[in-house]
Amino acid sequence: MAQANNDLDKPLERRGLLFVLSSPSGAGKSTLARKLLAAHNAISLSVSVTTRPPRPGEVDGEDYHFVDTPTFKRMVADGEFLEWAHVFGHRYGTPRAAVEAMLENGKDVLFDIDWQGTQQLFQEAGSDVVRVFILPPSIAELERRLRARGTDSDEVIEDRMARARAEIGHWDGYDYVLVNDDIDACFAKVEDILSAERLKRMRQKGLIGFARELMKDPQIRPS
Ligand code: ADP
Ligand code: 5GP
Repeated sequence: MAQANNDLDKPLERRGLLFVLSSPSGAGKSTLARKLLAAHNAISLSVSVTTRPPRPGEVDGEDYHFVDTPTFKRMVADGEFLEWAHVFGHRYGTPRAAVEAMLENGKDVLFDIDWQGTQQLFQEAGSDVVRVFILPPSIAELERRLRARGTDSDEVIEDRMARARAEIGHWDGYDYVLVNDDIDACFAKVEDILSAERLKRMRQKGLIGFARELMKDPQIRPS
């Protein structure tokens, strides 16, 4: 019988995956991200660096690393970002070292980044990236959610609505597109995607050796 030797102790040891949630602002990606982090401890959030000022209640180091523009530019020059982009007049970037540390610690990494960042991440990490785009059920509901959230001025909300069209136009750069109508139903789909992607053959590091050992088992007789 095939025995689990040292190599095979962890046949399901995996390559970590980079799980991206993008959406037009207000469609619900932060809500979905929070639920995912609360329900699954094997996935950690990539905390972005931004030049945007903190909103009330946002915590430096938890929601974002808030920096000034010269600091951000220095980080770009030093190659500290895996990707970065201008969004809504501010700079946002994903710190490379933190992502590498999470993957080394056996965690999958969750990204709340826009389509520009998703493209760059995909160029860097290819099939390790799983791209999920969240759509609102309607534009009226998107605006209602932005107003109900109560975090932005009328001017900022108008700007976000004006950009929603352009952002929605990038839906086809993603592997999965979900409509966030009912939050619980949408979250269940996000969890389904994560589970299925984790099981993909290419992410299972120990499978080749494990299958070879199974095939060597003397109980398998040549036909
Ligand atoms: P995003 O991160 O995409 O900008 P948020 O997650 O902040 O969006 O969601 C915007 C607002 O809409 C929040 O107040 C959130 O509680 C609410 N919301 C999110 N999903 C739903 C949903 N399916 N139904 C109703 N309200 C929702
Ligand atoms: P907010 O200001 O509402 O927190 O974020 C605005 C937009 O910036 C969102 O679409 C969010 O996904 C995106 N974003 C946040 N962090 C990053 C990042 O590190 N890189 C990129 N490319 N986009 C980001």
